[in-house]
This record gives sequence, structure tokens and C-alpha cells, in this order.
Amino acid sequence: MNLLGPAARQAVSDAEDQVGPVPFLAVLSGWCEAVNDERDLTPVRRNVVTLTARLTAHLPWICEQPWVTDFEAEIRDLLRVVQGITMTRPRRVPLPGVRCPSCTGLTLVREDHSGWAAECGHCPAVKLDQRDYEDLVKAQACRVPGAAKS
Ligand SMILES: [Zn+2]
Repeated sequence: MNLLGPAARQAVSDAEDQVGPVPFLAVLSGWCEAVNDERDLTPVRRNVVTLTARLTAHLPWICEQPWVTDFEAEIRDLLRVVQGITMTRPRRVPLPGVRCPSCTGLTLVREDHSGWAAECGHCPAVKLDQRDYEDLVKAQACRVPGAAKS
């Protein structure tokens, strides 16, 4: 229901009768109305594509607003709900044998679509691009006793 939207001919504009997560359309249109009002914009059609396009187009401005943390939390919740419904949660693939440079745990993972080559499952600040990850692998391989020296 959240993904498909209400069956009523007209969009449900509030979520007062809703049980469970707020419908996507209500969340997106609420934020779009805030952007429209504050930026004096003409409202767009009320569907997921047009609403997300409006919000995306104004994202740099949204990021400067004092309510950006609320916006981020609600959009993150939407994403979490979508991933749960569609079973498209990103995979976390363990990267065995390489220690985290911060906590030294064998906790490095590669997560689908994250844009990072490696992240620590425990240290939120540890995010390595491909080059940093390869350097880390080489540095740790050199420390393994009996490793061949070239
Ligand atoms: Zn760590």
C-alpha cells in the first residue's frame, strides 16, 4: 500500500488514518509543499516521480535549511521501508583477512551501492576508497610472517 499509494481517486493528503509507516506520497508531498511554500514555487503533480524530481532539484537548498535533519530522517525511513518491501536491501560482503585501520577488527565489509570499497562494520568513520583499500591490503600483507618479499 505504501508503494502503490491510496486506491482513492484523489490522493490521501494526510496520514491520520494510517496504520504503520506513513504513505510515501504523504511524506514526499509534505516536504514538497514545504519547499514550494518557502521558495514560492508552483506545485508539481502529485506522484512519486514528480515529487522526488522537485525535491532532488532543490536538494542543495534543502541541505541549508534548519529542518534538513528531519527531512533526512524521513527520507531515510522511506528508503528503509522500500528496501524491506522490495527486498533490495544492499548486501554487505565481508572482506576477510584485512583488519580495520581504526579498531583492528576483522570487520571490514563492502556494501552494495555505498560507493566505498571497504567500510568497517563497527567504526562509522572508516570508509575506504578502492585505492586506500588496496594500500591497506598491501600494508597488511607485508606484515604477515613468512610473506614473500619481492
Ligand atoms: Zn573498525
